[in-house]
Amino acid sequence: MNFQSTPEPISHLIEELNKLPGIGPKSAARLTYYLLRMPKEEARSMAEAILAVKEKVMLCSVCQNISDSDPCRICDNPQRDHSVTCIVEEPLDILAIERTGKYSGVYHVLHGVISPADGIGPDDIKIKELLSRIQASDVTEIILATNPNLEGEATAMYIQRLIAPMGIRVTRLARGLPAGGDLEYADEITLTRALEGRQEF
Ligand SMILES: [Zn+2]
Repeated sequence: MNFQSTPEPISHLIEELNKLPGIGPKSAARLTYYLLRMPKEEARSMAEAILAVKEKVMLCSVCQNISDSDPCRICDNPQRDHSVTCIVEEPLDILAIERTGKYSGVYHVLHGVISPADGIGPDDIKIKELLSRIQASDVTEIILATNPNLEGEATAMYIQRLIAPMGIRVTRLARGLPAGGDLEYADEITLTRALEGRQEF
């Protein structure tokens, strides 16, 4: 995009908004001109909200989830079952599981998956934190809820191998074919899991 005829503060904001996921140069320009017409107080409140998430949000030292308190509300809740820990890739996965209302255990957020192709090894995600946490607590079951793709499966396998000798029950989310999905379009991982997890009919 040619910024030469654009006032510097405007081109700067376009560049900044362009860094957001899903926001291309055109959307960034549209948002910038929208913000330009916004009342100053509203714009200030938005800018302050962005700063506040950086200044007031931290990682829970127990589960590594993003939180505004440490420990977070889930880790601090005596009503939750602290003997069951569900391992997820990202904080957003917790929101998805919480929405089901079917889980009362606690979580551990890895903040990524092992992906040699991207140069991400076990030390780059929160596996060390998981191990010391397991050793220091009375966890009896670990649910591996990483995504059912290559990296997610490999990460689950890696953690399973580390935890198995500790005598803790390790489970993996059951995954089947998507309802209404065509068998021929299912990827091999989904299909393999669907086969392995097959039930009496
Ligand atoms: Zn926590």
